[in-house]
Amino acid sequence: VAKGAGRNRFSFFTPALQEAAQTRARLAHDLRSGLQEQQFRLVYQPIVELATGSVHKAEALIRWQHPTRGLVSPAHFIPIAESSGLIVDIGEWVFQQAARQVQTWRQTLHPDFQISVNKSPAQFHHDGHGLQPWASRLQAMGLPGACMVVEITEGLLLDTSTRVTEHLLALGDAGIQVSLDDFGTGYSSLSYLQKFDIDFLKIDQSFVRHLVPGATDLALCKAIIVMAHALGMKVVAEGVETTLQRDLLTAAGCDYAQGYLFSHPLAAADFEAYWSASRPTNGDWEI
Ligand code: C2E
Ligand code: MG
Ligand code: MG
Ligand code: MG
Repeated sequence: VAKGAGRNRFSFFTPALQEAAQTRARLAHDLRSGLQEQQFRLVYQPIVELATGSVHKAEALIRWQHPTRGLVSPAHFIPIAESSGLIVDIGEWVFQQAARQVQTWRQTLHPDFQISVNKSPAQFHHDGHGLQPWASRLQAMGLPGACMVVEITEGLLLDTSTRVTEHLLALGDAGIQVSLDDFGTGYSSLSYLQKFDIDFLKIDQSFVRHLVPGATDLALCKAIIVMAHALGMKVVAEGVETTLQRDLLTAAGCDYAQGYLFSHPLAAADFEAYWSASRPTNGDWEI
């Protein structure tokens, strides 16, 4: 190791940090214009009912086509949108798009079709619009609350502010369902699961990744499924990529699964094609 490596490392570190801060500031600025210039779109990932293979649910995931940077991952820009407060406007846009889509798919795909949208804690706080309006806007569109699921993360449940609690209660009152995303990665105390009306629990993909017979992660998944069912929740496994993972989860009693094994997140038209191709398992009904 060369002499002075520490100093080199240090001098390398500072400009890199500065550049990262500049990139964030630029992206925060670009997010605002991106919303006006329609650079965002939603993609939809099928959520498969394991017992039947049918698909009546999808998770909406945002995509940002930046004019010069190309496709920017939500994992990268959502935190920037959160800290800049723009997440509220982005969240409203996501809601509007998802509501229109579920309205269409309830008519063309399945009468009980349900779309999940992700809602970050910052959206509960900076909220200018609130959750009650979501419910009434669905109502104005002739849609029941049950057409939508709001995905929250465990951290939100640790927030005991009345604002968060009231929002979650309002969701339940409107029939909008609640899903606890990335379960197992946060700090949620089990008592919170009972305190709030949570409909779905999503096992984080980090537990699904190493599922093999006898693995401790399989024991964990089984325990989560038993507990969730005892509390009246349905379970969705995230990040299912192999038939082995699917089969182990099915045998463990998991209700739903989502992952590249079934499909990547798809543009609406591609989702419709995927849905039609899996139609034999999607059930029998009249449109
Ligand atoms: P999430 O809600 O936990 O979404 C699941 C992520 O896993 C998605 O990444 C999805 O594309 C990815 N995924 C799905 N199946 C597989 C699989 O089999 N293997 C692997 N390795 N990954 C899989 P994506 O779309 O990049 O989104 C990342 C995160 O960004 C989301 O995690 C969510 O927290 C956030 N996000 C996405 N869209 C929105 C949005 O509209 N609003 C908010 N507030 N957050 C969003
Ligand atoms: Mg999610
Ligand atoms: Mg409920
Ligand atoms: Mg997740």
